[in-house]
Amino acid sequence: METMRVVAITGERACALVERPKPRPWGWYAVVRILVAPMCTEYKAYKNGWVGDWLGHEAAGVVEEVAGPCRVKPGDRVLVLPQNPCGGCELCLSGEYVLCQDEPNVLELTGNAYGTSTYSQFIVKADWQLPRIPDDLTIEEGSMACCALGPAFGAMRLTGLGPHQTVLITGLGPVGLGAVVCAKDAGARVIAVDGAPFRQALARELGADLVLDHADPDALRRVREATRDGRGVDQAIECAGVPEAHRLCVDAVRRRGVIGLVGEGGAFELKASDDCLRKQLTILGSWYYKRQDVEPLFRLIARNRSKIRTMVTHRFPMSRVQEAFELQMRAETGKVLLDPWA
Ligand SMILES: [Zn+2]
Ligand SMILES: [Zn+2]
Repeated sequence: METMRVVAITGERACALVERPKPRPWGWYAVVRILVAPMCTEYKAYKNGWVGDWLGHEAAGVVEEVAGPCRVKPGDRVLVLPQNPCGGCELCLSGEYVLCQDEPNVLELTGNAYGTSTYSQFIVKADWQLPRIPDDLTIEEGSMACCALGPAFGAMRLTGLGPHQTVLITGLGPVGLGAVVCAKDAGARVIAVDGAPFRQALARELGADLVLDHADPDALRRVREATRDGRGVDQAIECAGVPEAHRLCVDAVRRRGVIGLVGEGGAFELKASDDCLRKQLTILGSWYYKRQDVEPLFRLIARNRSKIRTMVTHRFPMSRVQEAFELQMRAETGKVLLDPWA
């Protein structure tokens, strides 16, 4: 049996590389050789010691093997989309595959013992979940269509952010930094908020018009003052996932303002009258982006090449993943990329 190297969490702040069976293709499921594995929130599993060998949902690489004729062929440079949706339900067919409620058990279906996570050398994936990376993008640039730019891009498709508007972005981890890039690409004025100096500086470099510290007691006043009539921002894209950021977004948007919720998080308080009715507030939850939005997102990446280079602050061989986790825990990174073959 052929094996491959994958990352496993072995305890609190402990991880190791382990050997697992290399997946085989089946039906319309192809095997992809992962060349870039962007790191997302897996450091939380490392920090908390959630023992397991199933890390990661972001990847780009080259098709290694197919079982027969399908939408991809060996050698294709592809983006690996997250989740394992059914491909046939109403949500999948509308492009909102990320919301699919009929996900098959891919390992059972394809007869593989392992092969659905991305901190790994290979992954098995349905062909329609493997969009080709355009020739004018590198595989690394293509990989930025995962969570680096994807969640904010999807949210802004929903909120309809345009060049006449001012947007508040809360939380400047990789997703929030991606939101800065997407919002500037849309031509909007951007006010960005975070507590980490490293990330504030990155947001400035990516073109944010005003960057505030979330600990600044005057943050709300300063956001309002930075809008044309002092009445608040037109939209907010919330990427922090903490109640203080939710509150700042609700208070900072003007009447009939729109909030796109992107940051994973828990409960927060809303006043029916003051926050919602009398403001006629719209809050849109947004999880990733539609299947058909991947091409426009690739175009956005091509238009913003130099910013994409700025967003990627670190690259690590997978053999040094522990160092990468430790670095992420200090919030001194933009997007971090792993090379599963080094
Ligand atoms: Zn489905
Ligand atoms: Zn992610």
